[in-house]
Amino acid sequence: MRSPDRGPRGAARNPRSDPGGDPPPPAAARGKATLTIDLAAVAANFRSLASRLAGARCGAVVKADAYGLGLSEIAPALAAAGCRDFFIADLDEGIALRRLLGEAAIYVLNGPAAGTAAEFEEHRLFPVLNDLTQVAEWAAHARGRGGLSAALHVDTGMSRLGLPAQEAATLAREPERLADVHLACVMSHLACADEPDHPLNARQLDAFRAARAGLPTAPASLANSAGIFLGPEYHFDLARPGAALYGLRPVMERPNPLAPAIRLEAPILQVRDVDSPMTVGYGATYQVPRRGRIATVPVGYADGYLRSLSNRGSAFIGDIRVPVVGRVSMDLITLDVSDVPAALARPGARVELIGPHYTVDDLAADAGTIGYEILTSLGRRFSRRYPEGPESPGTD
Ligand SMILES: *Cc1c(COP(=O)(O)O)cnc(C)c1O
Repeated sequence: MRSPDRGPRGAARNPRSDPGGDPPPPAAARGKATLTIDLAAVAANFRSLASRLAGARCGAVVKADAYGLGLSEIAPALAAAGCRDFFIADLDEGIALRRLLGEAAIYVLNGPAAGTAAEFEEHRLFPVLNDLTQVAEWAAHARGRGGLSAALHVDTGMSRLGLPAQEAATLAREPERLADVHLACVMSHLACADEPDHPLNARQLDAFRAARAGLPTAPASLANSAGIFLGPEYHFDLARPGAALYGLRPVMERPNPLAPAIRLEAPILQVRDVDSPMTVGYGATYQVPRRGRIATVPVGYADGYLRSLSNRGSAFIGDIRVPVVGRVSMDLITLDVSDVPAALARPGARVELIGPHYTVDDLAADAGTIGYEILTSLGRRFSRRYPEGPESPGTD
C-alpha cells in the first residue's frame, strides 16, 4: 500500500520537517479525500494498554473490519505488536481473519448459528457460547472430538448476549452439558465502564465472580477498553479492548492517554465570495451574515460525514478553525473560510477534517454520536493510506 500515495521525493515520510509544506498526495490532486491510518499508533496503543494490565493478557477486538479501519492491515499490525487473542463478531469475519493470521486465537462473539459448528472447527475459530442452545450446538459437535475450544459468555447486566443468570445456574448444576468442550475463556461484558462511578460496574463485577464460581475453571475476561481503566480487579486473565486501540478516548470526561490513529484530509474544490443576504446549501439553512468566503470540500454523508454535522462540525486549515456552514450533502460540505488568508484557502489546499486539531471524539460529539459510529461509518471512497514507518501525522 505504500507506493502510489507517497510523494515522488518520499516527502510524505517527513511531515514534521515541513509541516503543511509537503506536496499534496496524488489523491488530493485528483480531488479526493485521504484517510491516513497510522498502524504504528495502533501498535503503540496495544502496547500501552497491555502495560496497564495487572498480570492479564491483552487481546484485541477487530469486529466490523477493525472498527472500519481495515482488518487486513490492522490485524497483522496487532499480531506483530504481540497480540495473540482476537475477537470478531461473526463467522464470516472470523474466516477472513483466519486467512490473515494462521496462529492467533480467534473468538467469534455472536456464537455458532445452528449448523455452523463444522465451519468453526475447520477454520479453528472459538465460538463464544451465549446461551444453552449454543452450548448444546457446540457440545454436540465436540462429542467424541476431544475438547473443542469455546468461550462461555455469561450476562451480568448488559441484557444483550450471554447466558442469563438462570442458564448459568443450570450449567453449574449440570456441568456434563460442557463435556468434551474445552473452555478457553469465561467472559462477560460491561455496560457502563466508560462511566467509572456508575454503580452497575461493581454489580457486574460481583455477578461475574459469582457466575465463575459455579462454572468449570477457565481464564476469565471482563474488560473492554474502558474496563481496563476501572482498575486491576476488572482485568482478570484477558482484556478485550477495541476502541482504545484505534485511538478513541476510553473514559468520558478524562483526557485521552492513547495515540490518535487516523487523520482525514480533503482538498478544497472551489472557493467563492459570499455576502449577506445569500444562503448556503440545501434548505438555505445558513444565512451569510457578512462578506466572506466559502470553500467546498469533497466529503459528504455518503462518506460517513454525518448529516447531523450540518452547521455544527468544524475543520481546520493550519491552526485556523473553519466551521461547517450549511447542510452536509451527499458528496460535499461547505466551510466558512473567511478567517483564513486567501493564499491558504485556495482550490487544492488541504483541509483537516479529523486530526490533531479535531479528533474523532470531537467530531462525534458535534455530530451527537460516539467515535465508534464515526469510525465504522468512514467511507469506502476515501483514498486510504497505511504508512508503517515513523510517519505519524496524528501525533504532532
Ligand atoms: C465490541 C466489544 C468489545 C470492545 O469494546 P470497546 O469499548 O471497543 O473496547 C469487547 N467485548 C465485547 C463483547 C464487545 O462486543
